[in-house]
Amino acid sequence: MSDKPEKFIDENGLRLDGRKLDQIRDIKIEVGVLARADGSCYLEFGKNMVIAAVYGPREVHPRHQQDSTRAIVRYKYNMASFSVEDRKRPGPDRRSTEVSKVSREALEDQVFTEYFPKSAIDIFVEVLQADAGTRTAALNAASVALADAGIPMRGLVSACAFGKVDDTLVLDLSKDEDNYGQADVPIAMTQDGKITLLQMDGHLTPEELKTGLVMAQEGCRQVYEVQRQALMDHYAKMQDANEDETEAPSVEEVITAEENEASEDVNTGTEEVEEVDEEVAGETVEEVPEIKENVPEEEDEETDKEIVEEPDTEEEDSHE
Ligand code: ADP
Repeated sequence: MSDKPEKFIDENGLRLDGRKLDQIRDIKIEVGVLARADGSCYLEFGKNMVIAAVYGPREVHPRHQQDSTRAIVRYKYNMASFSVEDRKRPGPDRRSTEVSKVSREALEDQVFTEYFPKSAIDIFVEVLQADAGTRTAALNAASVALADAGIPMRGLVSACAFGKVDDTLVLDLSKDEDNYGQADVPIAMTQDGKITLLQMDGHLTPEELKTGLVMAQEGCRQVYEVQRQALMDHYAKMQDANEDETEAPSVEEVITAEENEASEDVNTGTEEVEEVDEEVAGETVEEVPEIKENVPEEEDEETDKEIVEEPDTEEEDSHE
């Protein structure tokens, strides 16, 4: 783990990684990365790398979890043991259980669960590389994966944290800001600004909380734009692929084309034969017998013999 920096914000008002106070880290989203999942998403948020997979609506196991009025939403957040500098002990722990619970609650209300009674919608998020803000990165990926799975939703959920370092509010905390800062407030919200996740670690005045919420709202709006664009790009690509498939000839078209080709060959063949005939017809009478002589009669006889002899040999073999 790195040591606590002396200052988080330099004299130009820039943060340790060169960002402005209200600047989020770069986001990269790829939709539909897993062929087996109903919906999936790979997302990078700064140095965080997460992958989300959605399965469902599907049968509920164990059965006693089934709700006859709506679908249940399950969310499993997991940090890979190689996702942090010091190896993380594999498997669930208190932190991942807490993150899973609050993340499920952040998404659940956005899903039209009442459309799918007695079923389950399962969301799995794996953190491949952690660099502070993994729960927000995971939520952003999960939300896109849900949309990719075609789950009817009221809208996407977008998440982003704000916090306090050097007595100053900053948006989307980096690793050092998260570890050594004065406050960390992860937030998730819907497109219309409804907050679906709000946690707070550290101390803030009510005024700071209000200002921070406005900053986070703008951060979430920016995240939403990237999510939306990624989904649109993905479906534009899929549409192009479908159009290419539609343009491909149908079976009937292929068969008709082959038949046409075959009849053309036959016609061409006739022409060739006619041409040869004409040539032969043009040749002198002496030259024509030479062609006949090229087929030796003896060879024909030998071939006949072979054909006659073969079955005898086989019969002998079978007697043995
Ligand atoms: P979030 O990742 O949502 O910000 P936390 O504030 O709990 O959640 O964690 C901050 C960061 O601390 C994580 O992103 C990760 O880089 C690091 N971290 C969390 N848990 C562990 C762990 N078990 N081992 C090493 N680093 C961890």
